[in-house]
Amino acid sequence: MTGKITILGSTGSIGVQALEVARENKLEVTGLSANTNIQLLEKQVRQFKPCAVSVRDDMLAFELEKKISDTSTEVYYGMEGLKTVSALSEADTVLNSLVGIAGLIPTLEAVKKGKNIALANKETLVAGGSIVMKASREKQAEIIPVDSEHSAIYQCLNGSFSKDIGKIILTASGGPFRGKKAIELQAVTIEDALNHPNWSMGKKITIDSATLANKGLEVIEARWLFDIKPENIKVVVHPQSIIHSMVEFKDSSVLAQMGMPDMRIPIQYALTKPERPFNGFEKLDILNCGPLTFEEPDMEAFPCLSLAYEALKCGGTMPAFYNGANEVVVELFLEGKIGFMDISEILENVMKRHNPVRSDNLGDVLDSDLQARRMVMEQAGKQS
Ligand code: MN
Repeated sequence: MTGKITILGSTGSIGVQALEVARENKLEVTGLSANTNIQLLEKQVRQFKPCAVSVRDDMLAFELEKKISDTSTEVYYGMEGLKTVSALSEADTVLNSLVGIAGLIPTLEAVKKGKNIALANKETLVAGGSIVMKASREKQAEIIPVDSEHSAIYQCLNGSFSKDIGKIILTASGGPFRGKKAIELQAVTIEDALNHPNWSMGKKITIDSATLANKGLEVIEARWLFDIKPENIKVVVHPQSIIHSMVEFKDSSVLAQMGMPDMRIPIQYALTKPERPFNGFEKLDILNCGPLTFEEPDMEAFPCLSLAYEALKCGGTMPAFYNGANEVVVELFLEGKIGFMDISEILENVMKRHNPVRSDNLGDVLDSDLQARRMVMEQAGKQS
């Protein structure tokens, strides 16, 4: 069980649930960060009394400082602020629930200080997997997954040797458009895409769930977390979201982790493992949760998933490029500037033009991310 935690992205969906888990388990909160929601951050500061917090920019930091001048919490801002909060000497564990590539540098900062990472920011590993895993081995900082699928695998693997793993089976809910064909997806709206059947999450990840890019990012994340070959990571659609993922071992035994689709469960496990203290969350009613069904994902209707496998096969900076490009196409879709099927079309187009660099250099990773963003904007300009 961890004692003191810092939560990056504390006003987001995962951050708020992580604070709830921290309160229930009486964990001390050492640091927090938020992007722009300083009203909620102020409340969190008053309730959890962290040593330091960070916000997006100097204006917001100034405003927040005025609000909380009666507290002893220090206020920082920008990427430097995130780094400061990630490296606070008081914390044992940093829970990273930032959105997007912004999570990579703070993760590395915390790893360098030997802190364990409860990782909810999948882009950290998608873009910087080899760099982050190498640093974590050197510093003996553990990367503990918070993503429900990876938490499931982590729990199933408990104590087993990696040489005994045959296959990882990642489950996907299939999102709001499961069963729809590519042609039917041309006309779906932002509201349709934001309407996820099982999970309540932030906007970016909800769109990623609708395109299956989220599952693609998770395949890449799994490759790094569990050091497993892409061909041994299989995605199956499981619409009920009760089995959160499975591991097939070489001896043909399969372990699955089950539970209600409630992110507080994997968050709590990341913070309390190997213990499993009581909580009052709704229990799985095994007699009334079935039937549990499984189907093959439709790669034609949801090309973002196969593009992720391709990015992984290409290797080098291609996964970082895939991730950067995906972030921008999702923003463009949410702004109403492109249609749903343009997301994968633009992604595929720009990936064809990226020559991945094989490197363990953070600069190269960040460059390919920027290149991806630029190329998507150009491509989208041409299409409209
Ligand atoms: Mn997930």
